[in-house]
Amino acid sequence: MAVCEVCGNDYDKSFEVVAAGNRHTFDSFECAIHRLAPVCEHCGCKVVGHGTEVSGRFYCCAHCAREAGGAEATEVSDRI
Ligand SMILES: [Zn+2]
Ligand SMILES: [Zn+2]
Repeated sequence: MAVCEVCGNDYDKSFEVVAAGNRHTFDSFECAIHRLAPVCEHCGCKVVGHGTEVSGRFYCCAHCAREAGGAEATEVSDRI
């Protein structure tokens, strides 16, 4: 039994996630994503998949990286 740190729900199937050495408790993946997922620097959506990192910035896809990153991101492509 643990209380979700995002919504405060006390749920018997809550789970823990260790990210960057910090332990977090959530009742759902939705709450875990809300708390932990990086945000795309271009369109602002939560990066739930692998995403794309260019120069320390996170993007949800290669398209956003190219749109926002300029010249240095032109080589970026989605890994299929
Ligand atoms: Zn929650
Ligand atoms: Zn995006």
